[in-house]
Amino acid sequence: MMETQNIKYDIFIIGGGINGAGIARDASGRGLKVYLAEKGKVGSATSSWSSKLIHGGLRYLENYEFKLVAESLREREVITKIAPSITKPLPFVIPHTKKLRSKLLIRLGLFLYDNLGGKSKIPKSSKINFNKKYQNILQSKFSDGFQYYDVKVDDKKLVEMNIDDAKKMGANIAEDTKVINANRIDNYWEITLNNNKKIKSKILINAAGPWINETVNNVLKINAKKSIRLVRGSHIITKKLYDEEVAFTLQNEDNRIVFVIPYKDEYSLIGTTEVDVNSPDNPSISDEEKIYLINTINNHFIRQISEEDIVETYSGIRPLIEDFKEASKVTRDYVFDLNCENNNLPLLNIYGGKLTTYRKLSENVMEELSPYLPDTKTKNWTDSKPL
Ligand SMILES: Cc1cc2nc3c(=O)[nH]c(=O)nc-3n(C[C@H](O)[C@H](O)[C@H](O)COP(=O)(O)OP(=O)(O)OC[C@H]3O[C@@H](n4cnc5c(N)ncnc54)[C@H](O)[C@@H]3O)c2cc1C
Repeated sequence: MMETQNIKYDIFIIGGGINGAGIARDASGRGLKVYLAEKGKVGSATSSWSSKLIHGGLRYLENYEFKLVAESLREREVITKIAPSITKPLPFVIPHTKKLRSKLLIRLGLFLYDNLGGKSKIPKSSKINFNKKYQNILQSKFSDGFQYYDVKVDDKKLVEMNIDDAKKMGANIAEDTKVINANRIDNYWEITLNNNKKIKSKILINAAGPWINETVNNVLKINAKKSIRLVRGSHIITKKLYDEEVAFTLQNEDNRIVFVIPYKDEYSLIGTTEVDVNSPDNPSISDEEKIYLINTINNHFIRQISEEDIVETYSGIRPLIEDFKEASKVTRDYVFDLNCENNNLPLLNIYGGKLTTYRKLSENVMEELSPYLPDTKTKNWTDSKPL
């Protein structure tokens, strides 16, 4: 038998990834009644399959994404401040390769990277000579390069901390709970869950990440204006390839970059790849992706690795906005699609985004929805309150 709850929530969120979690925290802190349903465990999908970086995205400068990089750099500062226990600034070294990006281009990129985000506590970039440093790691064909800083993060924990705060402020968080249907009825949304409960809400937010197309088509049954492109990114984990607390940004001949990041004291995290896929479910690395990542290491490091060195792999699906470009050139920015009926009962579909920008995205969601929440606190608060 269906069980209809009498409470009418202000906001119902589909999806407990970083975006859903960030919105739940922000909205609860403004005194709103929030219900979030997550079909698995919070933070157990894309948001824990990332490269675990809070970063400006140096590479996006090549695609002229100055606004996204500036916002991400500002957020890097904010997230480091509000979540010090799970973030750590880390130097990233780019070995220079004559055939690829020129030194002038990299220096220009790093100048922008150092300055686009405004004042920062994170150290600025510099040139680096491999006669003095890292000659034990890099092959002798690399004589010099550059060093810049980004921040590593425990991505899953970041989701959980947002969820914990939201709960403390009264949000109802339901794990292992799939949204299977949602309809506008009179003056509320009626959302049906797979445990037979029906929840009423004034506003519905679709933060289903790479499942957004599936949710729009099968749960909401609406015609959405945007579409998402599913691009798998895979990582391999090896026993640590070197002892230094430094990451490498390795350039490949296909113009893509691969990060090598110190991981959990004993390991190196190496990724990522970009492969178009049809389904967001059960992503896993292919042999080609493993070889691509192994070859990248073997083309740069003295230490050579093979498949036997891989201790673990994981893959995630990037929910990128479809704009029919090469995967590496598709924007990592987010887009909102607000769908209303007679200027009432809003549905907000969230497309794209990055871990790094989740907090700003959440703030922007509240601003977008403010006309429908007239009595709600408008003052932003999540940039200063520690998680
Ligand atoms: C390989 C890779 C590396 C990345 N590296 C970085 C990085 O280093 N830094 C960075 O800033 N960004 C990075 N990103 C991007 C970042 O990880 C994602 O943008 C972000 O995690 C997406 O969060 P989300 O909340 O939209 O999606 P998700 O984390 O996938 O959350 C969506 C949730 O919705 C749930 N859901 C779906 N349908 C339903 C339903 N019907 N009912 C209930 N729940 C449902 C899912 O179970 C899922 O948990 C990376 C992405 C990938 C794939």
